Amino acid sequence: MNTRRVLVVGIDGVRFDLLPSLHTPHLDEVAAAGFLGRVEIDAVTPTMSGPCWATVVTGVGVAKHGIWGNRFDGNRLDVFPDFTTRLADEQGLRTLAIGGWTPMFLARDGGPLFTAPSRLAYIAPTADTPEAWEECDESVTAEAARLLAAGTDLDAGFVYLGAVDETAHFLGCGPEYRSSVETADRRLGDLLAALRRRPARATEAWTVIVVTDHGHRDEGGHGGRSEAVRTAWIAACGPDIPPGTVPADLRHADVAAHVYCALGIAPDPHWSLDGTPFTPAPTRPPVHCAGGATGGKL
Ligand SMILES: [Zn+2]
Repeated sequence: MNTRRVLVVGIDGVRFDLLPSLHTPHLDEVAAAGFLGRVEIDAVTPTMSGPCWATVVTGVGVAKHGIWGNRFDGNRLDVFPDFTTRLADEQGLRTLAIGGWTPMFLARDGGPLFTAPSRLAYIAPTADTPEAWEECDESVTAEAARLLAAGTDLDAGFVYLGAVDETAHFLGCGPEYRSSVETADRRLGDLLAALRRRPARATEAWTVIVVTDHGHRDEGGHGGRSEAVRTAWIAACGPDIPPGTVPADLRHADVAAHVYCALGIAPDPHWSLDGTPFTPAPTRPPVHCAGGATGGKL
């Protein structure tokens, strides 16, 4: 039985430069058990949610997945699927994708990005407002935590939280935005706590990856190549990740590549992944994280 499992939590639009001044104990925990590192969105990728998230979950860049904006028409996800779909289709694993941004989960706007995970949950925000998105993220977190804590057979999952980005678009990167990032961190904590409650926790080794897609201008909004906008980040911990070392040249495409690595799956060259795992595939002394066999801090 494969006891290795992966949870990826995507938080939309969280500025890297503001993190040190915010109260994010759960992200700090992941970083302390592994790393938190800066990601520069490459020059050919628009600093928009669609292209960046597509690169995160497929492990290939825009030239391959073909998602250049927030409409996903003309994409090549049939050739370059997201990891929840590929793992379910080709590896027979149980996967989950859950969140509230329409083109990720529904056949709208050229979507879905998550074509065929073994479990898919879409929870629509009731309105296009920061408040409605907070409610949406709360429901998404509760449902994801319920599935995780119940011991639902799950090898890899992606949870999407969108309220932070919505808040920046409406209100800029002021107090409301800071508060929204801290709320997203509390939701990350709920998901980590759910992992700890899994009935089979003692036999499972979880890798946890937390990632944002892009930053925001001070006044809110992204696109363009300013430092605040083109800077994203990845935090991760798990059995193959030694604490305290930030991988050099972190890229969004490395997330999917590391998901496969963490599950012990060597990518087929035909997948032509652009990303590489955070750490080389050869096993290192295990560092347990989020429900690992030794029941470490996370
Ligand atoms: Zn975004």
